[in-house]
Amino acid sequence: MSESDFDVVIAGGGVPGLSLAARLGQAGFRVALVAAESPAQEWPEASIDLRVYAISRGSEALLRRLGAWPDIAPRACAYRDMRVWDAQGRGAIHFNSAELGEAALGHIIEARVIARALLRVIDACEAVTLLSPAVLERFSPPDGQWREVALEDGRSLRARLLIGADGKHSRVRDQAGLHAHAADYGQQALVAVVECERGHEETAWQRFLPTGPLAFLPLHDGRCSIVWSAVTAEAQRLRSLDDAAFRVALAEAFEHRLGAVLSVGERVLFPLSRQHAERTVAARLALVGDASHVIHPLAGQGVNLGLKDVRALAEVLTLARDQRRDIGAVSVLRRYERARRGDNLGTLLLMDAFKQLFGSRVAPLRWLRNAGLNLVDAAPQAKSLIMRAAMDL
Ligand SMILES: Cc1cc2nc3c(=O)[nH]c(=O)nc-3n(C[C@H](O)[C@H](O)[C@H](O)COP(=O)(O)OP(=O)(O)OC[C@H]3O[C@@H](n4cnc5c(N)ncnc54)[C@H](O)[C@@H]3O)c2cc1C
Repeated sequence: MSESDFDVVIAGGGVPGLSLAARLGQAGFRVALVAAESPAQEWPEASIDLRVYAISRGSEALLRRLGAWPDIAPRACAYRDMRVWDAQGRGAIHFNSAELGEAALGHIIEARVIARALLRVIDACEAVTLLSPAVLERFSPPDGQWREVALEDGRSLRARLLIGADGKHSRVRDQAGLHAHAADYGQQALVAVVECERGHEETAWQRFLPTGPLAFLPLHDGRCSIVWSAVTAEAQRLRSLDDAAFRVALAEAFEHRLGAVLSVGERVLFPLSRQHAERTVAARLALVGDASHVIHPLAGQGVNLGLKDVRALAEVLTLARDQRRDIGAVSVLRRYERARRGDNLGTLLLMDAFKQLFGSRVAPLRWLRNAGLNLVDAAPQAKSLIMRAAMDL
């Protein structure tokens, strides 16, 4: 093998791409990670990244196994309760980790904190070459054992397997001709960091408004990260309010559960859509994370699905190598596709159903969801099943 030959070339340095590079490098594969942006290494202690993830217990287990968790833990906020309620009725549900015999339901963590921790793991792993900042430009059709990969800066690499971890607008997916079904939700998520009069009680809060869900996620420093999804015009109106008017509107929309909103930082909008690639593998090529599936953030599962992809793909590739099979063969990669298809598509459809059901003002549907929330809340076994699935235990 020459210097520019790799078992696996990964395009995209988001959390799934970084995790996959670390996981495969630790398993002994020769990996190149091509990342357009270099993850931040330093920031002012009191600042909070606007991109914040609810990380499931299953994802936490992967990050622990990779050795990234000790760097993450000081800035991770465990949430022990989750409270969800409907603005148009009396339906409510409460999940509590102690009822499940668990210390936490999950953690709220800044994206840049996870990225920096994974970068340190990768730096310590000789088998991984990090090319960053670097952008994958194009790649050749499979030629025998290889795909040729060209970077925008003129460098070229050879890969036995090319992995697209390059997000919603994946170049790898599009150039490979893998069709993705996409639909705009007509909503945008307003994201900001806020300080409230009362502490967050280590609880993830979500109120379903007719215009979309509003979440308050607890942060390690006592503040909350809010994700307020609303139809586009409303989201834009909310962003354009001055700080004082926005704080009042936010506290009202949240029924003052944490008292007044004392301060609000920068407000940023993310357009919301769903997307699903029909095929996620081809000869010497596979997709992970948002390149393969994009879902509504209402249950905070996007990155967690991407990390499940990482676990499944790493298992399939390791097994194939141990059995001396070609890691780029479609027959091998199909195992990965089959392992992930049901969960990815099922979660996407479930998020869609939640969005439709909770966005509806139609009386029978309102009744149904309120009754449903209360019914499940009163049924410990059903609650435990739902929560264990969401925690990925
Ligand atoms: C408002 C909001 C809240 C969310 N909250 C949560 C949550 O609480 N929990 C959760 O699990 N998920 C959440 N998500 C979903 C989550 O953000 C995504 O699922 C996740 O970012 C997907 O990671 P990814 O690496 O696949 O894609 P991305 O995050 O888009 O990363 C792709 C990376 O690839 C790089 N790249 C792109 N093209 C190239 C190229 N040609 N060459 C090299 N590099 C390239 C990009 O620079 C980028 O770094 C939320 C999403 C939104 C919009």
